[in-house]
Amino acid sequence: MINRTAMITGASRGIGRVCALELARAGARVVLAARSLDKLEEVASEVRAAGGSAKTVVVDMSSRDSIQAGVAKAQKEFGPIHILVNNAAITKDGLALRMKPDDWDTVIQTNLTGSFTAMQAVMQGMMKERWGRMINISSVVGEMGNAGQANYVASKAGLIGLTKAIAREIASRNITVNAIAPGFIDTDMTAALSDELKKKMLEQIPLKRLGKAEDIAAAVKFLASDEAGYITGHVLDVNGGMYM
Ligand code: NAP
Repeated sequence: MINRTAMITGASRGIGRVCALELARAGARVVLAARSLDKLEEVASEVRAAGGSAKTVVVDMSSRDSIQAGVAKAQKEFGPIHILVNNAAITKDGLALRMKPDDWDTVIQTNLTGSFTAMQAVMQGMMKERWGRMINISSVVGEMGNAGQANYVASKAGLIGLTKAIAREIASRNITVNAIAPGFIDTDMTAALSDELKKKMLEQIPLKRLGKAEDIAAAVKFLASDEAGYITGHVLDVNGGMYM
């Protein structure tokens, strides 16, 4: 049972949506954040239909002001955020040689700076509560690299460093900070890939299947629990064995 308030960014679809449903099922009050209000409301309705408690906040993770306003609104309505799941992210792939400065900047701004800003915004509330869980959704490519994704890989590797730095800073306040590094998960993000590329990816995965959003949500639920209270600064691979 997780009798806490959890904010999940990128909760309108994909992994974030399933994480929100899973945390709500475990008893958490969930704050669903993303840009598309209509989709967030659909997820909130799913949570409520299952007997849970959900609120939505429109947040653009590429904007500091928007993140700070979103967290402030959530805390006003729900009280302190005990669990932050930094899940929202974008890709703008291309080879480094031709990568547009804008594509570099937007990906770093959204995935890395946005996650940092959200952590900063919830930190004080967690410190006052003397309990907190920050869970950053990184990626297997942040650990092993990937051609054509310099911006995304840098953001995801940066998120791992950020996780460890903040974990050390706030451990004394009983706040844990961990990262999850998913492998290839079946969502909109991977639906865009060609069949040939998907076949190639499957060859690298010992468990011989793409991951499901539920595989990530289970790891999030565990790291958010009281039982995971002695784990901090860890990167949990959920990748079917593709990187060990
Ligand atoms: P997705 O299906 O593309 O969903 C992305 C989510 O992020 C959406 O809810 C989107 O909502 C939100 N988002 C995007 N830009 C945003 C912004 N500027 N402000 C606020 N919200 C924003 O992605 P996913 O596959 O579920 O991935 C979720 C996380 O897992 C990401 O961090 C991703 O890097 C990581 N991951 C995924 C895979 C994979 O194979 N799928 C593998 C490794 C890691 P709106 O569009 O409504 O804003």
